[in-house]
Amino acid sequence: MMSNSQKKASQAIEAFDAILGLGSNVGNKIANIDDAIARLAASDDVHINARSQNYRSAPWGVLDQDWFVNSCVLITTKLTPHELLAHCQSVERDMGRVRDHRWGPRVIDVDILTYGTMKIDDPNLVVPHPLIAQRGFVLVPLRDVAPNFHMNGKSISQMIDAMDVTDVVPISE
Ligand code: ATP
Ligand code: CA
Ligand code: CA
Repeated sequence: MMSNSQKKASQAIEAFDAILGLGSNVGNKIANIDDAIARLAASDDVHINARSQNYRSAPWGVLDQDWFVNSCVLITTKLTPHELLAHCQSVERDMGRVRDHRWGPRVIDVDILTYGTMKIDDPNLVVPHPLIAQRGFVLVPLRDVAPNFHMNGKSISQMIDAMDVTDVVPISE
């Protein structure tokens, strides 16, 4: 029989760090981000370790829509990557996300940016998220929670310095 402390230790070993990127550009955007983080943390298998500032950002990809609020959270989770995706999607669904067109307006978007050092390339899950390095609205909040983040030999600050992030602005609360 394992003692409780042994059980705790073995559970801790099974937990992975992952980083989620959140965005909202419909309704009360800041409240939506708060609500999504609370819903993500409502799972016993998800613990929020760090949260970035909220940033106001210009729309990306589809430009003819309202501005976004973006944020990142660093979590520890015992969910597998696909379980974590299902959890993120159930939060989106429960908050009333309507799937319309790609990159269009949404009450909430929750993307898995990284999951440990894992590389996944499945039809429904690609990790690390393939567009991290192209998106200031992801990189800037990501730097708050993961200043040592690297991708393709570049530090996060190098990636940010190489792009125009003037349209990603911290929201003072
Ligand atoms: P983008 O992924 O370019 O930011 P999006 O967030 O607007 O676009 P969604 O409509 O939210 O795209 O999701 C489309 C599909 O992307 C989801 O059904 C999901 O299966 C898939 N997907 C692949 N990789 C990931 C990931 N790392 N995190 C979240 N969803 C992912
Ligand atoms: Ca997204
Ligand atoms: Ca998404």
